[in-house]
Amino acid sequence: MKLHLASGNAHKAREFQALADAGALRGALEIVPARAPGGMPRVEEDTGTFAGNAGKKARALWEKLLREREKSSGADRQPASGEPRPASPCHDVWVLADDSGLCVDALGGGPGVESAYYAGPQGDGAANLAKLVRVMRDVPDTERGAYFMCVLFLLGPNGAGHMFEGRCPGRLTREPRGGSGFGYDPLFVPEGYEQTFSELSETVKNNLSHRGRAWIEMTRFLNTLI
Ligand code: IMP
Repeated sequence: MKLHLASGNAHKAREFQALADAGALRGALEIVPARAPGGMPRVEEDTGTFAGNAGKKARALWEKLLREREKSSGADRQPASGEPRPASPCHDVWVLADDSGLCVDALGGGPGVESAYYAGPQGDGAANLAKLVRVMRDVPDTERGAYFMCVLFLLGPNGAGHMFEGRCPGRLTREPRGGSGFGYDPLFVPEGYEQTFSELSETVKNNLSHRGRAWIEMTRFLNTLI
């Protein structure tokens, strides 16, 4: 079963494929990054909620894929007079979108749904991280709790949406540490560990992460269908 991923983020695509390769439905799911069918349409992440943004991304890609299919089957063209209109192609596409972010206790849950644009609309991951380090500089160790949050939105062929949520609690270090991962990974230490997500292996991160936890919920649902 192919899951078209409504994200242009190559790191996320890799994490999702790793989850698909390791989980309960190992081998049954293939992640198709949005760049493969021609790129993820631009989506304004302006709903104010993780669930709203994830749903918006999923629908944008789903509609784009539907238009592409109609075009390649000729179902989009006006038939000549008297000619029957070609049947709309069967839409058997599954789209997966996620919206995620880091919620920091000392910032009242921020940057939260604004995580990707914390330092400005350009969505610069390094600038976002540098801003969080600066903003958190004077926050004492006892008040550096945070959690990553992920909402997965799965859109099925009939247009019905299904949502799954995952959280990963932890705390923030004072300085970024480690070389792997993306976004706020170098500053986040998951509960029960001393290393940041950037210092842990991809396998360990996927087992603990907000995305990994939401993924497990989603595979439980898919298990009932496949
Ligand atoms: P999204 O692509 O709109 O979901 O943006 C989520 C933003 O939250 C990313 O740009 C990162 O800044 C942050 N984020 C989400 N998940 C992670 C993660 O696993 N590690 C580090 N940062 C993350």
